[in-house]
Amino acid sequence: MTSTALPGTDELRARARTSLRHIGVDVAEGDGLHARTPLTGGQLFGLAAATDADTEAAVAAARTAFLAWRTTPAPHRGELVRRLGELLREHKGDLADLVTIEAGKIRSEALGEVQEMIDICDFAVGLSRQLYGRTIASERPGHRLAETWHPLGVVGVVSAFNFPAAVWSWNTAVALVCGDTVVWKPSELTPLTSLACARLLERAADEVGAPRDVHRLLLGDRAVGERLVDDPRVALVSATGSTRMGREVGPRVAARFGRSLLELGGNNAAIVAPSADLDLAVPAIVFAAAGTAGQRCTTLRRLIVHRDIADTLVERLTGAYTRLPVGNPFDDTTLVGPLISTAALDAMRHALSRVQAQGGKILAGGNRRLAEAAPAAAYTEPVLVRVDEQSDVVREETFAPILYVLTYDTLEEAIALHNDVPQGLSSSIFTRDQREAEIFLSAAGSDCGIANVNIGTSGAEIGGAFGGEKDTGGGRESGSDAWKSYMRSATNTINYSTGLSLAQGVSFL
Ligand code: NAD
Repeated sequence: MTSTALPGTDELRARARTSLRHIGVDVAEGDGLHARTPLTGGQLFGLAAATDADTEAAVAAARTAFLAWRTTPAPHRGELVRRLGELLREHKGDLADLVTIEAGKIRSEALGEVQEMIDICDFAVGLSRQLYGRTIASERPGHRLAETWHPLGVVGVVSAFNFPAAVWSWNTAVALVCGDTVVWKPSELTPLTSLACARLLERAADEVGAPRDVHRLLLGDRAVGERLVDDPRVALVSATGSTRMGREVGPRVAARFGRSLLELGGNNAAIVAPSADLDLAVPAIVFAAAGTAGQRCTTLRRLIVHRDIADTLVERLTGAYTRLPVGNPFDDTTLVGPLISTAALDAMRHALSRVQAQGGKILAGGNRRLAEAAPAAAYTEPVLVRVDEQSDVVREETFAPILYVLTYDTLEEAIALHNDVPQGLSSSIFTRDQREAEIFLSAAGSDCGIANVNIGTSGAEIGGAFGGEKDTGGGRESGSDAWKSYMRSATNTINYSTGLSLAQGVSFL
């Protein structure tokens, strides 16, 4: 199915301008960077990319702001984030428009992305009164041992195109209440969304009397990111993107003993056991695999199905895939919008031809759509592919809606297949057998940072920590105690006795 006609680039440009104006951004046209839309592949605006001098000035300003912000009481810092959350509620529709225009997300997912930003703001406001340290039993009489958490410094946030606003908010809302300041290098593919986010935070800062320089935005490509990564004044680099990017960023930050928080690629799988409730599993699988046109880090890419139910499940999935409406993401009936670029479509086709050469069989989907209406855009049907083995191509992350179906006979074999990929982000099992579910969640089960039961791999809530192992980079963001990555701890020993006693019973003098 193809949903209604696509809007033209001029119409999208006007719509973007209106949303930006509501938010308070007047687009200043410049050189070096193009805002474009994957809906048509057309260019929207030319923008100025940050120069070396801009990067230098932004880091210097954020560092100066940090020196004051770090001693502002945390609950007062929370007021800034509270106001940001209110502005996000007010401009939810405007920001969602920009996410759709630049990242191609369907309306409900774009609104969901902004909702996620509101949720993390609420979380961070609460956190601003809960930056707890511990009191630890001291071995010495008249002594107290304590752990204190302090702000870290300037946080450099480098983000990917596919969550152009939410990833920024996960980092920024938490970093700001932790007393850090932020310099953000968003994806070069989504500059308008980042201008809107930065403007909302600037408005919040003005309204609550916080320094504007607690946050600075740097538009540009990876070269701008590299300067941020190498700057010794940037205490933490939080970088979200491909494993390729993480491999470059991680060692560079480590070489200067900076801290990095890496949120990289995934190759997420679900095991479907014989007892699975297929009425629940089928929609969960289709959303996880085809939602966001397969462009989530948590997208379901591998389905490991028990041999006894494989044919039944595949038949149901094939039916669902054939009915998926692909097209204009502003149309409420559309479920699959465009890929970010024709290069992404080429990568998808390349992966499909490799896997077919290895004996993989396309069961449904995979055709390009709307090529005549929008030749510079990349609309495609999500594709379901049956494979006999987990070959190299299956073990790679292709950032497109390809779902590989593998079969298994024993749970042990399924878990081995599941874990036998370089990435370790998200995972799930569909089963009604509690023993199987517990094994999957145990130390001998899924090796991912996220492991679910009877729910797909994507669509995490902000309350839990988000991130993954192995080639996914090991970072944790968002909820739980991920805030500790944005602070430094100090251990305090306080002697309130009248004598000097040394630890471990050492005597001296
Ligand atoms: P990308 O790696 O191409 O770019 C991400 C960001 O890194 C961009 O801002 C880019 O300019 C910057 N960058 C690239 N190379 C750099 C370098 N050497 N130094 C500094 N900055 C550099 O990724 P993308 O195509 O925008 O996003 C898709 C990828 O992101 C997928 O692999 C997806 O799985 C991953 N992703 C991961 C998560 C997560 O939380 N684990 C979330 C979203 C996306």
